[in-house]
Amino acid sequence: MRLWIANPLAGMAPGAAGGLVVDGTEIAELVPAGGKPSAPVDQVFDASAHVVLPGLINTHHHFYQTLTRAYPAAVDKKLFDWLIALYPVWARLTDAEFRVACRLALAELLLSGCTTAADHHYLFPPGLTNAIDIEMEEAAALGIRAVLCRGSMDLSVDDGGLPPRAVTQKIDTILADGERLAGKWHQRGPGAMTQLALAPCSPFTVSADLMRETAAQAARLDVRMHTHLAETVDENDFCAAKFGKRPLDFLEELGWVSDRVWYAHGIHFTGDEMKRMGRAGCCVAHCPSSNMILGSGICQVGALEAAGVGVGLGVDGSASNDGSNIIQELRQGMLLQRARGNGDISAATHLDPIRWATEGSARCLGRPDLGALRPGCQADVALFKLDEMRFSGAGDPLAALITCGAYRADRVMVAGQWRVIDGAIPGLDVKALLAAHDAAARRLRAG
Ligand SMILES: [Zn+2]
Repeated sequence: MRLWIANPLAGMAPGAAGGLVVDGTEIAELVPAGGKPSAPVDQVFDASAHVVLPGLINTHHHFYQTLTRAYPAAVDKKLFDWLIALYPVWARLTDAEFRVACRLALAELLLSGCTTAADHHYLFPPGLTNAIDIEMEEAAALGIRAVLCRGSMDLSVDDGGLPPRAVTQKIDTILADGERLAGKWHQRGPGAMTQLALAPCSPFTVSADLMRETAAQAARLDVRMHTHLAETVDENDFCAAKFGKRPLDFLEELGWVSDRVWYAHGIHFTGDEMKRMGRAGCCVAHCPSSNMILGSGICQVGALEAAGVGVGLGVDGSASNDGSNIIQELRQGMLLQRARGNGDISAATHLDPIRWATEGSARCLGRPDLGALRPGCQADVALFKLDEMRFSGAGDPLAALITCGAYRADRVMVAGQWRVIDGAIPGLDVKALLAAHDAAARRLRAG
């Protein structure tokens, strides 16, 4: 089955003004301006009203948090206070509520042009034991690519950590589940639809032993590693008081500075630390909205990239954003870098956030088969129309996506299959989903 996505209004593939040909699950060829595919096609999709991007890749999220958006006791709080307000609520999560939270988050992502979603799930209270399996099932049902991070916490407030004991687990339990999940869900090689990463939560929720043993397990299983790092100044203070070290130093001696790792946030690094990360081949998931909502600081994206660190984009948990919309995050990313206020517009052109959310995010996830419209890459494509008031009068269609604030895709393809058509997910009953999600959120709030 060969499909020609023909003559786009604009796009992000050099040499493809005439569009691109999808053959099966892959991009087969790019068509130059005024040209035709080199071999016959079975179908032609007229993209003359669409801006065509590589499918956007979300590198950091917590799906379950869609149930606690704008939670009254957590509104207007900084990270540690926000977490302490929410842990007891999250400790009540059960399979049923979690499943509907995942479905909603994944649908939001897909409708905003996301084709690969990474989620970092680190909460395993008594009522929610198979969270990663549920996420994998929900992603497969929607046809979105998933890289799911088996998170973990073993340092409760009784041991000097931040979370209550009810949401922490023992190291042996965590490692055994990682082993099981990798065997069940981790596909390898180009085109993988479901992958697993290992992901202790953060320096203030895990023990040194858990970090060390997880790094060894990831090497043995050959899977990627993810954790929150350098998100706040409070984290620096916590690490100084508890370990007598800065967060990156703490992680480095535990085997967590390597090309297998991508960190969430990565805001408070020194120049020397960025150089060490770049030499090691680390990546950072930049989460601009979350950083702004929690007042965490501004990620030094330009300096990280100059040091050789790969930078991708993430919406982060939906209780610190409070949305799961990836195309909106591109605009936030550009604005936040410019808001540094040093007059240097080149800190982020309108093309930079597109690059972060595609090539950069693909590098975070170790996926050279994703993030580009290039022959041989997976046919993951996001198409946006500019037919709303917010775009009217725009001269440069590609710039308009970012500066005018696109918020939903018209068509989204994953592995050669249309998963969004005319701005909707075929077969998804949105009204029923919203009713179920609202009921689940109310139950959770009520306790
Ligand atoms: Zn996070």
